[in-house]
Amino acid sequence: MIQEDLERIREEAKEQIEKAVSSDDINQIKVNILGKKGALTAILRGMKDVAKEDRPKVGQLVNETREKIEQALAKTQAEMEAKAQNARLSAETIDVTLPAKRMERGHLHPNQVALREIEEIFIGMGYEVVDGPEVEKDYYNFEALNIPADHPAKDEQDTFYINRDMLLRTQTSGVQIHEMEKGRIPIRMIAPGRVYRADEVDATHSPVFHQVEGLVVDKGITFADLKGTLAEFAKGVFGEETKVRFRPHHFPFTEPSAEMDISCFKCGGKGCSFCKNEGWIEILGCGMVHPHVLEMCHIDPEEYSGFAFGIGLERIALLKYEIDDMRLLYENDIRFLRQF
Ligand SMILES: [Zn+2]
Repeated sequence: MIQEDLERIREEAKEQIEKAVSSDDINQIKVNILGKKGALTAILRGMKDVAKEDRPKVGQLVNETREKIEQALAKTQAEMEAKAQNARLSAETIDVTLPAKRMERGHLHPNQVALREIEEIFIGMGYEVVDGPEVEKDYYNFEALNIPADHPAKDEQDTFYINRDMLLRTQTSGVQIHEMEKGRIPIRMIAPGRVYRADEVDATHSPVFHQVEGLVVDKGITFADLKGTLAEFAKGVFGEETKVRFRPHHFPFTEPSAEMDISCFKCGGKGCSFCKNEGWIEILGCGMVHPHVLEMCHIDPEEYSGFAFGIGLERIALLKYEIDDMRLLYENDIRFLRQF
């Protein structure tokens, strides 16, 4: 009787294993036949009804059956895994002959290109590039630069004040003071950086823009040094033929002060629409460091003199690339930026 039952179980197992398509099916067969409540286990439980002398033989038969079923299950499981792995490998095959995806490469912003060019020119003349704080004390932004309390530049309308004494710098000129206070002379430095003004955004204004401050302090520095240096700078940026001219101006922290124009690089000075028929383009402000500013930094104006200048970085970038609206520099429209 038991032999027949075992035969039947083996046949059933064989049938089920042939139908199995997944590991889940295999596991289910294991449970159904070999598990605690499985068919084969039930037979082992029935051993107590088998005559004592027959038990070893029946036990052996049960074990053989179990082994055969286990082997069949393991074989099928291994075949399934091999098949699944083959399928996965062929799905993941890489066609090395396909063209690669094009990598988009970034590049420098026009402001940055202009800045690097300016830095290179001044580094070539022995200047150091220094940095200064954007959140600045009123003293460094105004007072030490000879800008009195009632000066229109100090108007709260124009300046982002953080509190009574702290503000977002409106100019990079404060870096001049920081450098002079270090007491290391000679000084030959440029200080590029962000500045902030409470301006409405339009084609020529932005609440955040960039300046490049310049300062030279040494014995015997004259206005001729200023002119020679800035003429060299203009040629470096706008071409060897570029001429410069200086017009008297007023800045509180330089005396005398001037604005520098360059000859129009489009028409060579003859006059065109680009220079509004002037032949000249205004480019920067400059002057000899005011003796009072030197004194406030504990530098003796009888012994030392210097010149300073401030370049609007955006102005240089706009002119250089003939861009007519400053907003384009900040909008990060990729169609615009791709051109540079
Ligand atoms: Zn012109």
